Amino acid sequence: MPYNSTQRQDIVNKLAQSKYDILVIGGGITGAGIALDAVTRGFSVALVEMQDFAAGTSSRSTKLVHGGLRYLKNFEFDIVRETGLERAVAYRNAPHLVRPEKMLLPLTENGSYGKWSTSFGLWLYDVLAGVKGQDKRKMLNRKQTLEREPLLRDEEIIGSGYYAEYRTDDARLTIEVLKTASAKGAIVLNYLKADELTYEGDKVSGANCIDVLNNETFDIQADYVVNATGPWVDMLRSQDVSLNEKRIHLTKGVHLVVAHEKLPIGQSIYFDVADGRMIFAIPREGKTYIGTTDTNYRGDKANPQVTKEDVTYLIDAVNEMFPSVTLQKEDIESSWAGLRPLIHEEGKDPSEISRGDEVFESESGLITIAGGKLTGYRLMAKKVMRLICDRKRITRKCRTRRTRLTGGFQKPKELPVYLKEVEKKLKEANLDDSKAFYLVHRYGKQTDEILHIYKEKNLDHLVQAEAYFSIQYEGVVCLEDFFSRRTSKLLFDISHVMEESDQVMSVFEELLGWNKGRSEEEATKMKRLLNELISFEQ
Ligand code: FAD
Repeated sequence: MPYNSTQRQDIVNKLAQSKYDILVIGGGITGAGIALDAVTRGFSVALVEMQDFAAGTSSRSTKLVHGGLRYLKNFEFDIVRETGLERAVAYRNAPHLVRPEKMLLPLTENGSYGKWSTSFGLWLYDVLAGVKGQDKRKMLNRKQTLEREPLLRDEEIIGSGYYAEYRTDDARLTIEVLKTASAKGAIVLNYLKADELTYEGDKVSGANCIDVLNNETFDIQADYVVNATGPWVDMLRSQDVSLNEKRIHLTKGVHLVVAHEKLPIGQSIYFDVADGRMIFAIPREGKTYIGTTDTNYRGDKANPQVTKEDVTYLIDAVNEMFPSVTLQKEDIESSWAGLRPLIHEEGKDPSEISRGDEVFESESGLITIAGGKLTGYRLMAKKVMRLICDRKRITRKCRTRRTRLTGGFQKPKELPVYLKEVEKKLKEANLDDSKAFYLVHRYGKQTDEILHIYKEKNLDHLVQAEAYFSIQYEGVVCLEDFFSRRTSKLLFDISHVMEESDQVMSVFEELLGWNKGRSEEEATKMKRLLNELISFEQ
């Protein structure tokens, strides 16, 4: 991935001059998965993303790799099975980014889940997802539940289900999939918008693209064009005059972040609220995050906002479930809102609409993939590539089941050993060894490269080495890319962001040639962003 304007220009030239087998539009997890699948089957691939990679829904999820227990309620067994099985694949290919996470599902006197139905549901969940051994669900009685989580509403608890899920860093997962595709030959570029589809006769043949960083335009040509633009898919389908009754239905989901002391739960909890919906509370890196909401959405797709109503809904739900906790709006340190690109089903409420995915092929040959989940990204890519192989009348096997992502390990059990090595290296460099966990669970084995940069450049702060790394290898073009989607500090370490912005500014100036004016602009932008994350609209 490029890091300065000359290298970016080289990529642009390459994109403009070649014809690709496949052009993927959209650099979220869906597009990333398709690019990786296509390139590992031996196709030439270009991928364009109009914002930063993962800036759409793929950095705004609940950050779980899960089978979707609640889909059992809607009898969506296929999704539960597919995504449930897929969790283990995601873990094996990127154990630094996909980690096992035990989940507690408390059962209450008047809650929507009964003991027997939950026991059966979780058993079925394990069976569908092939869960084995110690990870199989356990049903806990009232006493065991309250021992495990004393903060729960004591008088109403009748027991709980305790079962296995996985958690992730959605943006980094997307970026590592893209980097893996890029390492295998895919050409991927962010801040490049597919502005207009182009046609040869009545067949789609590529896109006229606009470089968002300098407004230059050029065409990319391809035999197959895949529309993987998530919440935006219908815009390209409209251009292609192929929008039909199957439309995208956007619903917004909000998450709030508070200090762990404010909601000091011992493990992740999945609980039901008065309106029958389910909410997650997940401890992470000294914080707890809570989500999500599910409301119809029609506003700006690039910038969904958290409203006061969203905040009240989530805070009330938490305060109700954990009576000794009294969360207030002022306790919120950060937040995010994302849009679910669901496939519209007439007459259904947001929470009832299926989370399944669907592939549409238009008369012009435009292939659109919509719906789905982060967890199932590899399977969605497989569907698209199967269609393209069928159209080309060729057979090329999918290879992503065993494609290790950049930073990954041969086997997950190598991770704890590596973690110890990193702790040792940090100590030797007189750095805080507790940073090892942070580094290894973001960069995996690429932590070596970050420590190498730190030493070689004789830097004052480790975060500067992270900035070098992410500008050089991960397509970062501004501070927000770095603090949001490469390090997630804007979500989980917001109090250090301004101080660290000052520390990394020199790295951006050196590598990207920023002058004083640009640095000041970026600092102002960061201040505005920090404020936005804790100011809520009416
Ligand atoms: P996106 O990530 O939105 O990517 C589409 C990209 O296309 C965008 O980056 C956009 O900028 C780009 N684009 C649009 N138009 C153009 C153009 N013309 N040219 C170039 N680029 C363009 N799934 C899970 O598995 N686990 C979870 O815990 C989970 N939680 C969720 C919680 C919430 C609140 C939400 C909203 C979703 C959640 N999901 C979860 C679902 C999951 O996040 C999405 O299914 C997934 O991220 C969608 O990815 P995508 O690549 O299809 O879309």
